[in-house]
Amino acid sequence: MTAVSLDLALQRCIESNCGAHYGLNEQLYVCSRCGGLLEIQNELHALADANALRNVWQTRLASLDGKDCSGVWRYRELLPFSEDAPIVSLAEGNTPLYEAPRAARYCGVSDLRLKHQGCNPTGSFKDTGMTTAVTQARILGARTVVCASTGNTAASLAAYAARAQLKCAILVPRGQVSQAKLAQSLDYGAAVLEVDGIFDDAMRVIRELAEDESIYLVNSINPFRIEGQKTVAAELAQQCAWQVPDHVVMPGGNLGNSTAFGKGFKELFDLGVISRQPRLHVVQAEGAAPFARLFVDRESEPSSTLAPIRHPQTLATAIKIGAPVSWQKALRAVTETGGRVLSVTEQEIADAKAIIGRDGIGCEPASATSVAGIKRLVKDGVINPSDSVVAVLTGHLLKDADYVTKYHQDKLYTHDRASNRSKEERHIAGTFSNPPTRVKATRDAILQYLESHESHHVEDRSVD
Ligand SMILES: *Cc1c(COP(=O)(O)O)cnc(C)c1O
Repeated sequence: MTAVSLDLALQRCIESNCGAHYGLNEQLYVCSRCGGLLEIQNELHALADANALRNVWQTRLASLDGKDCSGVWRYRELLPFSEDAPIVSLAEGNTPLYEAPRAARYCGVSDLRLKHQGCNPTGSFKDTGMTTAVTQARILGARTVVCASTGNTAASLAAYAARAQLKCAILVPRGQVSQAKLAQSLDYGAAVLEVDGIFDDAMRVIRELAEDESIYLVNSINPFRIEGQKTVAAELAQQCAWQVPDHVVMPGGNLGNSTAFGKGFKELFDLGVISRQPRLHVVQAEGAAPFARLFVDRESEPSSTLAPIRHPQTLATAIKIGAPVSWQKALRAVTETGGRVLSVTEQEIADAKAIIGRDGIGCEPASATSVAGIKRLVKDGVINPSDSVVAVLTGHLLKDADYVTKYHQDKLYTHDRASNRSKEERHIAGTFSNPPTRVKATRDAILQYLESHESHHVEDRSVD
């Protein structure tokens, strides 16, 4: 088995009326001719046949070699790197695909599985793209890697930069970062630079910094991140014995993840590794749903482009994004597979999250949009009850513990202060809450409590 050789892959502008292309090692972030986004184009014909690919990937599951143990680099035939690339890895990927009977009943489907990308080394799917982006930083000889982020991207970059012994700077809007995510970046030794202003101010400074050649920018537009992230499609297909599900449903923020799933499945299909592509559906939070709105707009006006939302609002901070950069690529993935884009309410997200928890699987709020979205799609007749469905969980439960404890104590409120809504209107009900209880430190008190609590835990208040 030979890997794709460097001269067979290139960076290509996605604008159809431009089509400029660049070598893999040209350090640029957007097309220098038209400013469009770049994507990696791999020459897949150079690969061996589908059977050989499936076999080599299967064999590597039993290998002890570090490259084979990574759930990203195991699929290196799909990646634009040579065999001797200086790989920076934390054994990312390798995330479980769980059956979720409780969540399945909640959604009204018989076959629901959860692909838990929150089980990555730093607790989110960002690691699968960071391993390739930081490897590319090494190839380019960068000394410093930077990003602007309010959370998971920062934590992930900080970790991979530490592995690569690269300097790392994280620009965060002061006072707007979750404690857990900030803690990660600090522990991994990144320079955490708090800038006054909002995310967009941090982003502007980052762009200026990137003009310096020794600094490599690892934001969402970086096409090498998409390459690593797309391998989740191969891992998922392999976990399904190459029989992909009918639907894959995921949250959408900046839309890099949806883009990556789309590219991953398409390449596997073009190679003949899978015989069809799943329908890809993207779910946003109601207060941060420019992509869902675009999807509706295009039904009447097919040439509509994305209109950014100035003040996105949602407690699911990982998808609190008003101007998603990768919307064109993600739209292609959704429409080509016959998928949908929809939005769900804060209440639906919170309840879906608690139901996922009851299957013994935790996730962060943004991830739960997937299950909330599936429930909607079943109701709307887009997903049939007998279809096979995979929901993508993007982040770990402990990324936002504050949200969780508040929900379970019925103290969760949206904070869209601008909207003049009363406190009652902003309250998110703890529909499936499980608050802590104070008991006397005696055997009897505890046994008595457990007896009364039993009904609650077996088949409590209907989840439908
Ligand atoms: C980044 C992230 C998302 C959104 O992914 P995009 O690629 O920006 O659409 C969703 N959930 C979690 C937990 C994330 O970290």
